Amino acid sequence: MTVPVLVWFRRDLRTADHPALATAAAEGRPVVPVCLPDEPAHAPPGAAARWWRDRALAALAGDLAALGAFLVVRPGPAAEGLPALAAETGADSVFWNDSVTPGAAAADAETAAALDRAGVRVRRFAHEWPADPGRPRTKGGTPFRVFTPYWRALERAGPPPGPVARPAALRPGPRPDGAPLPAAPPPPDMAPEATWQPDPTGARAALEDAAVRVLPDYAATRDRPDRDGTSGLSPCLAAGNLSAATVWHAVEGTAGAAAFRRELGWRGFCYHLLWQHPGLADTPWKPEFAAFPWRDDAAAVAAWCAGRTGFPFIDAGMRQLRATGWMHNRARMATASFLVKDLLIPWQEGERWFRERLVDADPASNAANWQWVAGCGADAAPYFRIFNPVTQGQRFDPDGTYVRRWVPELRDLPATTVHTPWKAPPTGYPAPLVDHKAARQRALEAFRSLRE
Ligand SMILES: Cc1cc2nc3c(=O)[nH]c(=O)nc-3n(C[C@H](O)[C@H](O)[C@H](O)COP(=O)(O)OP(=O)(O)OC[C@H]3O[C@@H](n4cnc5c(N)ncnc54)[C@H](O)[C@@H]3O)c2cc1C
Repeated sequence: MTVPVLVWFRRDLRTADHPALATAAAEGRPVVPVCLPDEPAHAPPGAAARWWRDRALAALAGDLAALGAFLVVRPGPAAEGLPALAAETGADSVFWNDSVTPGAAAADAETAAALDRAGVRVRRFAHEWPADPGRPRTKGGTPFRVFTPYWRALERAGPPPGPVARPAALRPGPRPDGAPLPAAPPPPDMAPEATWQPDPTGARAALEDAAVRVLPDYAATRDRPDRDGTSGLSPCLAAGNLSAATVWHAVEGTAGAAAFRRELGWRGFCYHLLWQHPGLADTPWKPEFAAFPWRDDAAAVAAWCAGRTGFPFIDAGMRQLRATGWMHNRARMATASFLVKDLLIPWQEGERWFRERLVDADPASNAANWQWVAGCGADAAPYFRIFNPVTQGQRFDPDGTYVRRWVPELRDLPATTVHTPWKAPPTGYPAPLVDHKAARQRALEAFRSLRE
């Protein structure tokens, strides 16, 4: 067939395990790959995730060119851009991998309707794991609200389908004019290129490192920010440089695979929650939390964002985020808890800051995890369980390696005082922003007032 087909790329910036691209290639038709960078109105990705996406997009353009096809970048929205591009190129169909977030799924439906009106055929493919964010279901047919039974049901449903091979070659289609590749700068103070390589080589290396180095000890070290014991695959998964199925299958037979796949299950669960509650980024799952007596304290928020709260473990996490666009999960939980419970700042402010600064900012995982920490989510940590910012550090960074790496003022302190610098000679490091014991009491009283 010589009639071209458009293949629309979104959060699936890859050529391997890309069912839409693989099908277009298998049909032997000329392929016009297209991306219309278009931000969702609700909870749009921030600067760090845009930085990642733009580098990943440039790498995708190179990868497609090596296969023989040329990526066209056009401004959105797709419901206008795709019918116009089809008319220009003579394409009679558009193939894409379906979105699993409610906002993008609604835009997909609108785009499909616009293409239908223009007489252009649409073929949609499943590419996520789980493919349908509304599944699995409980025995009673309702969606899950608690992770463990969700995970059991997902395991019972069997592994994700094996990844679809990268096409060996693509037949080039027409080359219409496009916009230049976008190249958003990283946020201020961030040098993400020192840590990340958002291209297929970087993704393959991270996957191999995860399987060979990280996973054998994963169950023991995944909770230790001082150990570099997690995969670092989250930005690749968030932008779709790697599919969840590819990651799931790549770790087959590795010690630690079961614990690791369970974490991938958390990712699926976050999409399942977002699907049930599309306003997850700003509206509490438990509606009573809308009346929580939050504080308004711009100076405290600024200290938290800057990593200058006076609690070394919290500041190490916030400075790691600021410098690299990523933070270890244990530190994400501790820093989020500190903002919401010690400082009594609305979780939505933390969600926004993380979304702005995380290279892996994900509309489902970020919102669901913030609600989990804040106690207002579906399967949330109970509000009265309040992390102690000192003992979190002593337990998960016992030698102070993580703190010394990110808080250089404390580099010379021994393990005995690195998490309690106020017990050491002056270092120039700030005094604690709050007395944790009193702050804990204040948070519990706020919670009690909500229940009364
Ligand atoms: C307040 C808060 C905000 C968060 N925001 C995000 C976010 O915007 N984007 C994001 O991808 N993750 C988010 N997480 C979840 C988790 O911290 C990161 O996925 C993880 O730290 C990424 O590092 P990794 O790839 O080395 O993880 P690994 O331990 O190697 O885990 C493998 C993969 O499993 C998934 N995963 C692991 N833990 C979780 C989890 N708790 N929830 C959902 N998926 C998980 C990720 O896709 C991750 O890449 C957040 C957690 C908290 C507490």
